[in-house]
Amino acid sequence: MRFTVLGSGSTGNAMLIHAGETRVLVDAGLSAREIVRRLVAVGEDISRLDGIIITHEHGDHAGGLRVLLNSVRCPVYISAETRDAYISERRNLSSSEPQKRTEILKHRTAEIVSSKDFKIGQLDFHPFTIPHDAADNFGFTASYQNTCLATVNDLGHITTLVRERLRACAAIVIESNHDRDMLKACAVYPWELKQRIMSRTGHLSNDDIAAWLQDSNDGFDAHAAHLVLTHLSLRANNTFLAKLSAEQAIKMRAPLFQATTEVIISDPKEPTAWIEL
Ligand SMILES: [Zn+2]
Ligand SMILES: [Zn+2]
Repeated sequence: MRFTVLGSGSTGNAMLIHAGETRVLVDAGLSAREIVRRLVAVGEDISRLDGIIITHEHGDHAGGLRVLLNSVRCPVYISAETRDAYISERRNLSSSEPQKRTEILKHRTAEIVSSKDFKIGQLDFHPFTIPHDAADNFGFTASYQNTCLATVNDLGHITTLVRERLRACAAIVIESNHDRDMLKACAVYPWELKQRIMSRTGHLSNDDIAAWLQDSNDGFDAHAAHLVLTHLSLRANNTFLAKLSAEQAIKMRAPLFQATTEVIISDPKEPTAWIEL
């Protein structure tokens, strides 16, 4: 199994997982054109996709889906709640968009339930609910031949369920959205937006990630060889700060529970290198 984060941030999220003969796109929040370009950049081809998973309806995760579906034939794995919310989304969209979304998804949907396991080709998916302000968002682990990868983007806090599901994974892709002080000081964001981001159903901060990484009792189990930090805020975070904060937290673990995990930062504009598991 291998994967690459094609792009991540508030401007759009997408990731590709490849295992055996199966290729799955996770989220389509970049423009269709960018998704196609980045797939080519990592040596893949849009026509070889076996499925597209949509984790929640927010534009930075599903905004490119409708146009992308004109060039791919694979099904969209989406829950009923997320599909309905995706169709009725009206923010910054033309009045004909809901109709177009309804039409294109009509015969293309493989309905999933955010708490029930499902399979795409040779990949087994185990989704779980995460706390975020969308209709039915989920994180998941994906497994292939006893190797497991976890993905959790967009969540306001790390729940007991999330802690449990992140154990024994060979790689973890998790958001490290903002630095709390930078967010509070950010002059561009209105106070309501800051409150939303910092809330229990908003986004994880560098400090949240650090606390989980350092906690060898109830937090990170040090199993993962790769930790990919995603969804970094352009205005309220920076790559060096997020990476340093995570690396320091790993170093501060109790001596008996040391980790050799490599910290990788995703980029909003370019794919990460392939990460092999
Ligand atoms: Zn979101
Ligand atoms: Zn997002």
